Amino acid sequence: MAEAPKMRPPIESGCPDGFQYMHPLMIRNYGNWAYHDRPRPGVLHHVSKSGDEIWTVRVGTQRQLGPYEINLLCDIIDKYGEGYVRFTIRSNMEIMVSSRDKVGPLVKAFEEAGYPVGGTGNSVTMISHTQGWLHCDIPGTDAAGVVKALMDDLHEEFIKEDMPNRVHITTSCCQINCGGQGDIAINIQHTKPPKINHDLVANVCERPSVVARCPVAAIRPAMVNGKPSLEVDEKKCICCGACFPPCPPMQINDPEHSKLAVWVGGKNSNARSKPMFHKLVAAGIPNNPPRWPEAGAIVKKILRVYKEDAKDWERVGDWVERIGWPRFFELTELPFTKFHIDNWRGSRASLNASAHIRF
Ligand code: SF4
Ligand code: SF4
Repeated sequence: MAEAPKMRPPIESGCPDGFQYMHPLMIRNYGNWAYHDRPRPGVLHHVSKSGDEIWTVRVGTQRQLGPYEINLLCDIIDKYGEGYVRFTIRSNMEIMVSSRDKVGPLVKAFEEAGYPVGGTGNSVTMISHTQGWLHCDIPGTDAAGVVKALMDDLHEEFIKEDMPNRVHITTSCCQINCGGQGDIAINIQHTKPPKINHDLVANVCERPSVVARCPVAAIRPAMVNGKPSLEVDEKKCICCGACFPPCPPMQINDPEHSKLAVWVGGKNSNARSKPMFHKLVAAGIPNNPPRWPEAGAIVKKILRVYKEDAKDWERVGDWVERIGWPRFFELTELPFTKFHIDNWRGSRASLNASAHIRF
């Protein structure tokens, strides 16, 4: 019988195998760690069952690093560390060294270069933020800018571990994609339906895909000025912006009407309590670069009240669930408005109202 033809293996274009970049001590002790502790904020110490020890220094970065910053950081890592580094999902760098003596000089070198050491334990660690203008084609704001402005103000909370529990803040620069469940999330919020450039739709958009994309079936094919185009039922439209990526002529980003919203109480972890969705606490906040003072003031106020009022080990969502949402609005002095009520007629039937999807 003729031999079956050999199939071409798929080209793997995902992330590379992490083992090739790992510190040799970590590879040697993979799956064999006995315990870990934190000698100081920003430094982790892992001890293996074999007796090997490794220290990890966590450093905050601005995430979007140019050649100058990358060279500066790599020089420090080569000179004071052992040449091994990894990035966390929150854009912190973790540098591993095999001796306690190397930790002090490494921390000093980063701090002198203006990079804070912290982000461990009960701190406000780096805000996870999305690609924004650099890589993505649909942002309504610059998430990286919001992060930079806010983390400048929260520097002390990054380098200390003074919060009741860890605080994970997230941002997103459009309304539909990357903004995850955060203790506090700062997300874009469109407030007007898209404006359609009918001259371009026929040439640029696949109309059936755009119609299918709308979660509330508000888009219909239409002939406008003798050309195939689309129309939006503005009474149904929830201004989500999902039609803009497949059809850029449906412009929804707007310097005045694309606002920011702050959401509170989400978490992905199932430690101590189940995963939670975050909930809207402030809407219609001006999208006000370069420092976003209005959004920053709200986040700082929520953090201050959480720090004063929560019990040890309560995440933001646990704390709000214990004191109740009315008390949360009282303590934070945020106005509760009609925009906080989810009165969309289809929400009961189609919104994913269960956190169990993550298991
Ligand atoms: S949040 Fe939206 S605009 Fe920002 S990077 Fe993600 S998909 Fe792109
Ligand atoms: S913005 Fe969202 S709800 Fe409105 S038409 Fe586009 S996809 Fe539909």
